[in-house]
Amino acid sequence: MTSGACSVRVSRVTKQYGDFVAVGDLSFEVQRGIIYGILGPNGAGKTTTLRMLNDILLPDSGEIRLLDNLAPGAEAARRIGYLPEERGLYPKMKVGDTLVFFAELRGLRRRDALRQSGLWLERLKIADWHDNKVQDLSKGMQQKVQFASALIHDPELLILDEPWSGLDPINADVLRDVVLAQKEAGRTILFSTHLMEQAEKICDSVCIIARGRKAIEGDLEELKRSAAAEGMIVLAFASEADEARAREGVLRADFLETFRPCKEGLEVQLQRGHKPAELMAALVEARIDVSRFEHKQPSLHQIFVDKVGEQADTAMSGRSSEAARE
Ligand code: ADP
Repeated sequence: MTSGACSVRVSRVTKQYGDFVAVGDLSFEVQRGIIYGILGPNGAGKTTTLRMLNDILLPDSGEIRLLDNLAPGAEAARRIGYLPEERGLYPKMKVGDTLVFFAELRGLRRRDALRQSGLWLERLKIADWHDNKVQDLSKGMQQKVQFASALIHDPELLILDEPWSGLDPINADVLRDVVLAQKEAGRTILFSTHLMEQAEKICDSVCIIARGRKAIEGDLEELKRSAAAEGMIVLAFASEADEARAREGVLRADFLETFRPCKEGLEVQLQRGHKPAELMAALVEARIDVSRFEHKQPSLHQIFVDKVGEQADTAMSGRSSEAARE
C-alpha cells in the first residue's frame, strides 16, 4: 500500500531497451513529506526510472504505486509536478504567459493561473523577466521557468529530473531554498542527480543506482553513521618522520583497507569488522606519535565510491565537470 506514510513505491521494476537492461530489479520507497534523491552516474538509469513513474515508459516487469496507491497515469499526473530531463518551453512565448499557459493546461482557472504565475516568478526571483520572451533568457533562467511551470498547480509530489544541471551556484541556491520550502509545506520531493554535493545538502534519504541496479538506499544520516562505524579514521602525525615510519609499517597492516591524503592528514579506511582501537594499538606499539586520531563520517561521494567503485566515480566526475562547464 502507498497510502499513509508512503508517497512512491517502486517494487522490483525492470526496464530493457532491446537486450540492454537500463533498470534492473529496482525497488525503493519514498516516505511522504521528505526529500529523496535518486543518485548515480551518467547512464545509471535515473531518467528511465523517472519516466516510468510518469507513465512515459512502461516497466517490463515490477510495480509502481504513487500517492494513494495509484498506478502511473492521468489521475496520478494531476497530483504530480514533473520536471523532465528534456526541457521544452516555447521560445517565443513570454515568460509570464508561459506560466499562465501551463497553469491553465493543468486545470487552473485564469484568475488562479495568474496568481500562481506571479507567485512563482517572485519565488524564483525572475519577476523582472515577466514580459521577456523565453528565448531571451539565459539557460539557467529558462530552467527556472521550466521548474515553475512544473510546479504551478501546487502538486503533492514533485519529480525532478536533474533539476540542478546547468544552474550557476546562485541559481542553484535559489532552487534549493524553493525545494526546501516545498518540503516545509508538506510536499514530497523526488529528484535525480549526478551531483553528490547537491544531494548531500538537501536529501533526507537517497537511493544510489549504478548500471540500472540499486547500490544503497536509506536515510542519509543513517547511511553516514553506519559507514563511519565501519571505520574511517582521520590521522595526522606529530612529525614527517612519524608519518614516514607509519607509511612503511603500520599503514600496510592487513586490517587496513586503504589510506589517502586529506586536508587534515591521512584518511584511513579499516577493513570491515576491524576496530579503530587496533590501529591505535599498532601506532602505540610502533611508537608513532600522532596529533590527530578521529572517527570520520564519510561524505556521500565517499560512500558512493566505496560501494559502487572507482569506475563509476570516474563517470561521476566526468559528468560533474561537464555540468560545471555548462
Ligand atoms: P541516467 O538518467 O542515469 O543518465 P538513463 O535512464 O537516461 O540514465 O539511461 C540508462 C541507460 O539506458 C543508458 O545506458 C542509456 O544509454 C540507455 N538508454 C536510455 N534511453 C534509451 C533508448 N531509448 N534506447 C536505448 N537505450 C537507451
